[in-house]
Amino acid sequence: MAIAQQTSATALTAVATLLVSALLLTSVSLLNASAQTSGPSPEEYAAHVGGAQIVPSGALRLDARKAVCGQRPTVLDNQLDDYGAAYPGFLILNPKLMNKVSTPVKLWIFSHECGHQFRGPDEETADCFAVQRGRRQGWLTPEGLEEVCNFISPAKGDSMHFSGSYRCESMRKCFTDTSIK
Ligand SMILES: [Zn+2]
Repeated sequence: MAIAQQTSATALTAVATLLVSALLLTSVSLLNASAQTSGPSPEEYAAHVGGAQIVPSGALRLDARKAVCGQRPTVLDNQLDDYGAAYPGFLILNPKLMNKVSTPVKLWIFSHECGHQFRGPDEETADCFAVQRGRRQGWLTPEGLEEVCNFISPAKGDSMHFSGSYRCESMRKCFTDTSIK
């Protein structure tokens, strides 16, 4: 009896070990898959959150102005916990929050997320990309930039507003700097 119990315990351990290896193999292949695509596709993201809409590149308008970020589509997700976000290969906007801000601020948010697509994760660089783009495309005036500064003022507390006054100072410099950052 004692021996039989021991045998079944050993067998169970063996089964458990096999299961663990199977799980490890699965996570390794998942990691490989995500390394190749570096994150979800817009379709996977939209399916995961539910109720999100994918807008193909060239079809997005913000207050009647065309908003383009290379070939990248934009996912409209009312459940996003911020105004906008950048995933590898696509942008995400929260229309519910975006509707609360002025046109230059909307276009600045979109361009800031677009800046992450082309310039990487640095916030200051994405800010500079956005204001220089606004100046070139004509949708950002010095007054509009002040609206953006007001929007990212430190009084408000999400990722878009992190250290607002410092970011503003740096954006004002970028706005007047003719060399492209
Ligand atoms: Zn950012």
